[in-house]
Amino acid sequence: MMYQMGVYCRLSKDDGENKVSESIENQMKLIREYVTKSEDLEIADIYIDDGYSGLYFANRPEFQRMMEDIYKGKIQGVITKDISRLGREHIETSNYIERVFPSLGVRYIAILDGVDSVHHSNEELAQFKTLFNDMYSRDISKKIRGALTAQKKRGQFMSGFAPYGYVKDPADKHHFLVDEEAAKVVRRIFYMSLEGYSRDGIAKKLNQEGILTPSEYKRKVQELKYANALEKAGAKGWAYPTINVILRNRVYTGAMVQHKSEKISYKVEKYQYIPEEQQYIVEGMHEAIISKDTFEQVQKLMKKRTRTPGFNSEVRKVNPYAGIIVCGDCGYNFQRVTCRDGYECGTYHKKGNTVCYSHFIKKEVLDSIVKNEIQRQAELALKESDKDEILKAADRKKEVQRRCAEANQKIERLQKELVAVQKYKKKTYENYVDGVLDKEEYLSYKAEYEKQDKEIRAKIQLAEQEKDSFGEAEESYENWIEKFIKYGTLSEVTREIVTELIEKIVVNGDKSIDIVFKYQSPYSKEKNAV
Ligand SMILES: [Zn+2]
Repeated sequence: MMYQMGVYCRLSKDDGENKVSESIENQMKLIREYVTKSEDLEIADIYIDDGYSGLYFANRPEFQRMMEDIYKGKIQGVITKDISRLGREHIETSNYIERVFPSLGVRYIAILDGVDSVHHSNEELAQFKTLFNDMYSRDISKKIRGALTAQKKRGQFMSGFAPYGYVKDPADKHHFLVDEEAAKVVRRIFYMSLEGYSRDGIAKKLNQEGILTPSEYKRKVQELKYANALEKAGAKGWAYPTINVILRNRVYTGAMVQHKSEKISYKVEKYQYIPEEQQYIVEGMHEAIISKDTFEQVQKLMKKRTRTPGFNSEVRKVNPYAGIIVCGDCGYNFQRVTCRDGYECGTYHKKGNTVCYSHFIKKEVLDSIVKNEIQRQAELALKESDKDEILKAADRKKEVQRRCAEANQKIERLQKELVAVQKYKKKTYENYVDGVLDKEEYLSYKAEYEKQDKEIRAKIQLAEQEKDSFGEAEESYENWIEKFIKYGTLSEVTREIVTELIEKIVVNGDKSIDIVFKYQSPYSKEKNAV
């Protein structure tokens, strides 16, 4: 499609020192060059606001004329030298770029910021970098970095190769599609980890089966020219680091993760690791290969993972309860006692009965207790979901909606009160200025209104928290049903099941056992009371 573009230029005194590079002629020159090089752009009209600040939109006559032309359908796009030409005020400018233009179907291009709402691309930026290097070099290099950062922060993929398990979307190179063949291997790696395989163990197993490593796969199957640092260092086949990187990569939950490392200096090839809080992580940018639940479980497991001594199998398996069983007396983790096939208090195991008791429990006893309890929960969940399933769910949803609506009304009412209080406060001040109130009266009114202001705000916050909690209860109820129904017919207690369902198991001095599940029905308390 050919886009009829509106060219928008603006200059004002707040451009200060940049006046030469920002001059209308320069803006026009840059835009004309850009349009000539593009195959799908045509200049339909030119709008110039000379001498108008970028802070306001409504008082710029040419900008207003351009908006009219957009409404009339005369132009389908707007092009500016950079975003600052469109506007300098952050909120209103992004309102145009993110809401007004998209809702009107208007294509927006800001050349030097690499913004193009149709292509999501900054290729043109690179071409222009050379072309205008002399005049704009400093400006541009700063802006390229800025544009790259902005794109990464928005979750657009800006690097060369998609991670193993994904391919770049041919329609949008900043977006990933699932590569099913590799994704299968990724899923397997995560599930093996849940089953208790160590990272070494997983690597061994994949090597035995002759599965291509991610780098080999990129070269042989995807025909990409690729070699990673590990290979360059002489590594062959799957190894601990390969598995570790995959198991820790949040990209598989659908999130785009960028800015994981930073070049220390532009002169040397040396990178510094960036902590997760400072990385650019944007959730839901592509289809997930691994559920967030599974991912978090694996992260926890890797933290907890303990090696089982004296277990010389090809692939080491950890015990299903590692890090889960806790002593009811001393609070210390239980330790596996391989020769007696059971578990006992870790404190006792190390220091003997001067500090704590053995609390020994046989694995098969614990297994059967855990199995029974999971099944009991599953039956409860099944019963709950069976009982006029749809009707109940609908009822609950209605109830949640009703409570939410109530909370909303309350919040709305409080907000009105707040506005009123603020108005009174202003009025009092005016009365004071006009001499209707003396200073003392004014101050006492003012203090009163400020107190009310604070109280109302606290009430609003409370109402909002309450509203959120309704939604959360519903969600944890659904989790409870879903998780336990899955294990309704359970034959063996595996590491996967234990870590998915159980927070901890407490073995008490009287040999009684408390199982703390991760999922519980939030409604069960109410029901017991009835
Ligand atoms: Zn103990």
